[in-house]
Amino acid sequence: MEIYCDNAATTALDPEVIEAILPFFTASFGNPSSTHWAGRKVKDAIDGARKTVAKVLNASPDEIYFTSGATEAINLAISGVIRAYDINHVVTSKIEHKAVLQTILQHEKSGDIETSFVKLDERGNVDLYHLENLLRANPRTLISLMHGNNEIGNLTDIQAISKLAQRYNSIFFTDTTQTIGKQWFDLSQTPIDFLVGSAHKFHGPKGTGFIYINKKHRIEAQIFGGGQEKGQRGGTENVTGIVGLAKALEVAYRDLDANHSKISKLKQYMVSKLAISGVHSICYNGESHSLENSLVNILNVSFPCLAVGSLVKSLDNLGIAVSGGSACSSQGSSHVITALPCQKDKENVRFSFSKFNTFDEIDHIVQAIAGIYNSDRVTQKNQSRFHFELTH
Ligand code: PLP
Repeated sequence: MEIYCDNAATTALDPEVIEAILPFFTASFGNPSSTHWAGRKVKDAIDGARKTVAKVLNASPDEIYFTSGATEAINLAISGVIRAYDINHVVTSKIEHKAVLQTILQHEKSGDIETSFVKLDERGNVDLYHLENLLRANPRTLISLMHGNNEIGNLTDIQAISKLAQRYNSIFFTDTTQTIGKQWFDLSQTPIDFLVGSAHKFHGPKGTGFIYINKKHRIEAQIFGGGQEKGQRGGTENVTGIVGLAKALEVAYRDLDANHSKISKLKQYMVSKLAISGVHSICYNGESHSLENSLVNILNVSFPCLAVGSLVKSLDNLGIAVSGGSACSSQGSSHVITALPCQKDKENVRFSFSKFNTFDEIDHIVQAIAGIYNSDRVTQKNQSRFHFELTH
């Protein structure tokens, strides 16, 4: 039996998405920049996709630009703003995705900017007083703070941050890769300067994303070419990806409330099952066990160390795919967990659910975990007996 419970890393394609993109692999193969019928057909599909993205954000289609995914969109937002506005101060946090942290680091190394890390509380929540102090001391800052954390699921109060950004004449970019398709957005109510999305996080295809650029901004392009995406991003468009992204987003928002309810029940169920599993000394990282303050699809659990090695690996051996941190960087311990004052000597496992998971699968996962700890107890006992015999 194979169980996939790593949906913060990527999600399975929705069958409705597959159906929507198939014609663009066959009959509708034109280049959207061509002015003839074949090109026009495809350009219409891209225009339609742009409208779909704009609608879910309550933004305007000319504020949406397609990219190769969230990483490229993040690079474009941060580098584009720093270069366009001569920004010399960036505020971020130590638990952002590496796409954010590495981009900022490159600018710091080049001497373009200074970086301030906003304080986080013991659960990884942004200290808004500290953020305000940083902005007061450095007006015209670029704020780069994520909406939903990909490892611990924490949700950030982007409404409050957008107000601070306005008060201190700063620019607010938020990495919404984990929340697009899972949370309602209304950019007319929450003014944000830039945000990003990635189709493969909401059952769309990999390698396609978008950036929202508030129309009051100009930004410096990072990829130059044939003037596609209004000159913001050169290169022939990934048509199947863009059509798939829009379809996936449409389906995600059509079914958002039902999916939210189902997935939050799965999370609650897993917490209740773990409590009676017989595995002791479990705790939850960040806000991940909360249904209000965190993404309902992410549960990040600290487990006691096993004598036999990694729990993630043992689960994988049983056909259960979960993650030990960010799937985007599979080596080493997670920089997010390292930044939090907790559980460094434990094994931190991220379970992330989707609409395709079932209660039976949760039962199976928890039974597998209990089984692994039971056999580990036997191994640990054997190890201590061995130790006893050797020393006496
Ligand atoms: N930002 C966050 C919060 C993510 O979770 C990810 C992917 O894991 C990314 C950015 C990068 O997204 P992409 O895979 O589209 O480049």
